[in-house]
Amino acid sequence: MYDLVIVGGGPAGLTAGIYGVRFGLETLVLERSEISGQIALTDVVENYPGFPSITGFELMEKYKEHALAVGVETKITDVLTVRSEGEKKLVSTDSGDLEAKAVIIATGANPKHLGVPGEEELIAKGVSYCATCDGPFFRNKTVVVVGGGDSALTDALILSKLVEKVYVVHRRDELKAVKVLRDRAFAAANIEFIWDSLVQEIVGTGTEIRKVEKVILENVKTGETRELLTNGVFIYIGIHPNTEIVDVEKDPKGFIKTGRWMESSEKGIYAIGDCRDTPIWQLVTAVSDGAVAATAANEYIQGLEK
Ligand code: NAP
Repeated sequence: MYDLVIVGGGPAGLTAGIYGVRFGLETLVLERSEISGQIALTDVVENYPGFPSITGFELMEKYKEHALAVGVETKITDVLTVRSEGEKKLVSTDSGDLEAKAVIIATGANPKHLGVPGEEELIAKGVSYCATCDGPFFRNKTVVVVGGGDSALTDALILSKLVEKVYVVHRRDELKAVKVLRDRAFAAANIEFIWDSLVQEIVGTGTEIRKVEKVILENVKTGETRELLTNGVFIYIGIHPNTEIVDVEKDPKGFIKTGRWMESSEKGIYAIGDCRDTPIWQLVTAVSDGAVAATAANEYIQGLEK
């Protein structure tokens, strides 16, 4: 039986792993791929202290190296469920079951989908949720970015360096993104904002391989619809937490409710990073959550042993 099993090997999970090992706990991090975490798909990180500018992938590699160097054990597997059986925690995976004294859920969140006609059929044929991954396919073309938050503007700026024209379609006439990103986006010559508008449909063309051709937009103030020709649609309308594997108290959007020690409603199960109801979804808070949860888990395990 492990002392501590951490589900998810992004920044939050690996930090919890590093702290777990330093407490002398038998610690295992379960992850889906060698380099996990949404941050690995981020082009440049500029708000992580000590690293004025670093690619998300490079930073993730450093976390991984650090975790392995201090003795964190990692395993690539898909976790199906996490549940308590008395004081024992059972972690069921696609490669067998594991037991632990405490579990930290660090499963992160994935981009939400718009849910409009054309979206699902045209994924990877012009519809994307990641400019760093798919931006290079749209060199010198036109793309639409949907959303008005930090993710939409971060990726609109990445795309603006690759493509000819970026339209940012936002449902209000004010952006949610932070000032530094707003200023940069307003200053980019090839980014144009389309305010008060919703994407009603993504339309594809072509017989053998259908590809994005245009979007149908609706102005929410006037009710008018219009067509906008585009080669790609990048969607950033928020994130959906990966918390289905565990049955603990969650908020209406599915983020796990936690206390100040990252404890969930189930004793010995903690949640950290983007999958919990954090006040802000940031790298620095994710790693901080990891340290807090590992400390709490250590106290809990010591208590069990007494
Ligand atoms: P977000 O902050 O929740 O923003 C989502 C945006 O999409 C909002 O502008 C929202 O409009 C719009 N939206 C939501 N549902 C929509 C729908 N059905 N149709 C059209 N538009 C819709 O999500 P995010 O930008 O993905 O960011 C998630 C978290 O990660 C945030 O906490 C963010 O700060 C963080 N993040 C940080 C950085 C960074 O620090 N550089 C980069 C990326 C993400 P309204 O404005 O009208 O609500």
